[in-house]
Amino acid sequence: MLDATTKEIKERTSGGVINPAKTCQPIGAMYAALGIHGCLPHSHGSQGCCSFHRMHLTRHFRDPIMASTSSFTEGASVFGGGANLKTAIKTIFQVYNPDLIAVHTTCLTETIGDDIPNLIKTAEIPEGKKVIHTNTPSYVGSHVTGFSNMTRSMVNYFSEATTSLKKEQVNIIPGFVNPGDMREIKRIAKLMKAPFIMFPDTSGVVDSPMTGEFQMFPKGGTTQAELTDAGNSKLTIALGRFASSDAAEQLDKKCKVPTATLKTPIGIKATDDLVMALRQAFVTEVPYELEEERGQLVDIMTDTHFHFHGKKVAIFGDPDIVTGMTELVMSLGMKPVHILTGTPGGAPGSTVGSFGEDIKELVGMAGIDANIKAAGDLFTLHQWIKNEPVDLLIGNTYGKFIARAEDIPFVRVGFPVLDRSVHSYMPIVGYRGAMRLVEMISGALLDRQDRDAADEDFELVM
Ligand code: SF4
Repeated sequence: MLDATTKEIKERTSGGVINPAKTCQPIGAMYAALGIHGCLPHSHGSQGCCSFHRMHLTRHFRDPIMASTSSFTEGASVFGGGANLKTAIKTIFQVYNPDLIAVHTTCLTETIGDDIPNLIKTAEIPEGKKVIHTNTPSYVGSHVTGFSNMTRSMVNYFSEATTSLKKEQVNIIPGFVNPGDMREIKRIAKLMKAPFIMFPDTSGVVDSPMTGEFQMFPKGGTTQAELTDAGNSKLTIALGRFASSDAAEQLDKKCKVPTATLKTPIGIKATDDLVMALRQAFVTEVPYELEEERGQLVDIMTDTHFHFHGKKVAIFGDPDIVTGMTELVMSLGMKPVHILTGTPGGAPGSTVGSFGEDIKELVGMAGIDANIKAAGDLFTLHQWIKNEPVDLLIGNTYGKFIARAEDIPFVRVGFPVLDRSVHSYMPIVGYRGAMRLVEMISGALLDRQDRDAADEDFELVM
């Protein structure tokens, strides 16, 4: 299937990408917008873009994803899409009646240069309703950038510092993670007795229960009042620099809410960092329930370490998730030797820092000399693997082609996962999420050991 991938790596001068390891900005913006209660994401562009974005999200979450489109035709493409957007806003409020519409752009509307803020100002918006926007040109960045941009727009449009003293509450920006992860982060914050506002929060929206009745706007999502009140919090915890730090910095600039930027809490250390940040901010004790979970995780890691020790791993996906997974597999004694994201990797000193430098430092601590690349593609990853084979591949569904071609055990983590279900309900963050990851990784390795074992080596107890 990937027979054309050559072992010999030649520098590509065309700038072309073969099998991308990312998808387009509006998908992230659409997902973030779904994390506001009563919000209808709106794609300002042609129907094809919107259909693709909705389809991708629907396939990952296995829940119908609601979004509208400006439905560009040739005329709008030439003369601009102002009329389409204004008509769309009027019709959407008449027909679907959301609390607010969150507009994001597409490649076409960005190329035309439609002035979205001014178009929104002159649109017919019913009393008490709201329209927000963000720019998501998909020829730069990735879906993670789109998520980050829409989350920053939530701050721009809503957050206000309205109290003279900051409130005893923390904002938690969870990053581009599944609703199961958001629920787990909220559970940890509740156990730490930390009053919090999470935004965006897609739990209860893209994982809503089957009730027998269609709900256009499910119960979940951050309310507009909470987004406004985020400006009064005494701290923002941004989880994952690439998806969350931009909004947190904007909140600091606009409302003087200081920021603690942490890694996505994947694995024991990153979860410890989240727990300790909450403990420090609210001077609370870590409850026994969390201590017990941590202890169980350490016990599991100790019991199973011999399955993992020295195994070589390739990891790809979104930068915040890849960073967390790299740290987790290293804590299990594995060797991440190929590490790649499709998202541009930032630069030292920038808001998001440098993916390459961070990973280099992380693996350098264990003396591992890894291939590391940002804005890379799966062709490169495959070539690396051909040159230095691995025992395990970790990444989103698109990795299955490499796993099949090279006959490597494969663990699906990240976005999108299109060929398995239930994953979006189950966390990979926190101590419990780490337990699940250990189970997934050891299951994949031991299944392979069983498959390849000769009859005389086929073990009952492993
Ligand atoms: S045209 Fe741009 S916004 Fe539309 S689907 Fe393609 S990359 Fe995404």
